[in-house]
Amino acid sequence: MNTHPTPVLISRYAAGGAGVDDATVWAVEAHLESCAACRALLADAVGPATRDLLDLVGDGIAAGIAAGPGPTRRRRLRPTGVTARILPWLATAVGLILAALAFEQTVRSLPSLVLLVAPVAPLLPVAAAWSRRTDPAWELMATVPRRGLWLLLRRTLAVLAAVGPVLAVAGWLTGHSPALWLLPCLAFAAGSLALGGLVGVDRAAIGLATGWSVAVVLPSLAGRRLPAVLEGGSWPGWALLTVALTALVLVRAADHRRLGAGRI
Ligand SMILES: [Zn+2]
Repeated sequence: MNTHPTPVLISRYAAGGAGVDDATVWAVEAHLESCAACRALLADAVGPATRDLLDLVGDGIAAGIAAGPGPTRRRRLRPTGVTARILPWLATAVGLILAALAFEQTVRSLPSLVLLVAPVAPLLPVAAAWSRRTDPAWELMATVPRRGLWLLLRRTLAVLAAVGPVLAVAGWLTGHSPALWLLPCLAFAAGSLALGGLVGVDRAAIGLATGWSVAVVLPSLAGRRLPAVLEGGSWPGWALLTVALTALVLVRAADHRRLGAGRI
């Protein structure tokens, strides 16, 4: 509405818009926002009682703004939810590493159990950290993939930060090169996030852990020798794999969005 509404229309609008169709009401409102002259007409049309009420509301709002926001109660961080769900799995992962360490120290005829479990031990808490079915954070992942990806990376790093020192101690006590337990561990974590974009992080982590156990751990124990992928010269391959998978996770952040939106 480029022209001014008629005084009759403005007074009908002021009276509640009875008998005026919606499109006209919206046009009048849009015009009033930009036309001081018609707002003055409207102020006359609404009558003194309504004007007094509006003034009262206006004064109340102004006083509220001047006083500033009231004291807000600090929200307590809830230790429930994700943390409560991860803790038992963190304990399981640590227990697994310590058991591998104890076994390796006592049974010398077997290949290094510490190296064999290092890649997959952190995957249990990673799976628990991102269980789609119980986690409201999936909503975040579904709607804001960038924020969701950050949350995913942060939780995964938190798990690695908790499990890493235990692995470091186990690696140090057994005399293995850090590259041989740390890099496979990082590669598998990145792999479960990358694959998680397709099937969900929890399923990806559990699938990779199972696959590694069946394809590498069991044959190594049966054959009583460390697989080639965990021998000294293998670390550049693990490093490359870690970098490639991490890049894939960052590039394919939208996969998680599609997954989050498509599944319950
Ligand atoms: Zn006007």
